[in-house]
Amino acid sequence: MNRGANGSGAGSSEANGRSPAADMDRTGAAAESDSLTVEGLVAGYGEVIALDGVTVTASAGGITAVLGANGAGKTTLLRAVSGMIKTRRGRILLGDHDVAGRSPEQIVRAGIAHVPEGQGVIPELTVEENLRIGTMSWRGRRADRVAALEEEYTRFKPLADRRRKPASTLSGGERQMLVIARALLARPRVLLLDEPSLGLAPRVMAQVMDLVVRLSREHGLTIVLVEQNARGALAVADHGVVLNLGRVVASADAATLAADVALRHHYLGF
Ligand code: ATP
Repeated sequence: MNRGANGSGAGSSEANGRSPAADMDRTGAAAESDSLTVEGLVAGYGEVIALDGVTVTASAGGITAVLGANGAGKTTLLRAVSGMIKTRRGRILLGDHDVAGRSPEQIVRAGIAHVPEGQGVIPELTVEENLRIGTMSWRGRRADRVAALEEEYTRFKPLADRRRKPASTLSGGERQMLVIARALLARPRVLLLDEPSLGLAPRVMAQVMDLVVRLSREHGLTIVLVEQNARGALAVADHGVVLNLGRVVASADAATLAADVALRHHYLGF
């Protein structure tokens, strides 16, 4: 199985509706590419080495599934990329721009948004108030913020219909939409999704997976999709990476991984 580049796609800044100049404003450096490459990443918690030299490439505009059993290091990988935990070694390249060691806020500004596991909506706030959290760090005109919210309401029609309702009234699928919409307000080029299908009914899970595909195909986002549901993730991904005890044990196009009976049996549970 090969390691390294995967998939293909149009992940240009134009595809995301932003000019390269706008990217320069946000990051302080030109964005040459939308791919994300993690090279030789070592990270952990105290004595625990949760990632032990992990190398993964998520191609621009593609969907890369990160799979593996409980404790494999999937969540830690996303936390390390988004700056929530410090990396001990390795590089995190957005295009050819190393963001390792940056703060979470700087990493968001550079173009990487993270939707953690567990649907972090604030149930007491309305849908709109939850969404506005995504624009809190925005400087500039109120009209731009309002327009950005409207853009998300156009993308996520059920949210538009419930904008004045408390988030507690949303279904599991709608909550997932809300946290993804909030992450998109940061105008990312790379979206890290941690178990977006967790706890959802199969029909809703399929809708969330469709949404992930749309974000990649129609909006050119580079998506890193962490999933316990390996079968569902490989059905929509271009490429997959399997982690075990903090190491990459397989990396190949999604169809190849899905067809590998031994791998499915040992690591993927289907
Ligand atoms: P799951 O699907 O169960 O979330 P995972 O593949 O996402 O699994 P991680 O949560 O990244 O795995 O955990 C990787 C390793 O790091 C495990 O050994 C886990 O026990 C350990 N770990 C995770 N979080 C912490 C923490 N806050 N403190 C100490 N060890 C942790």
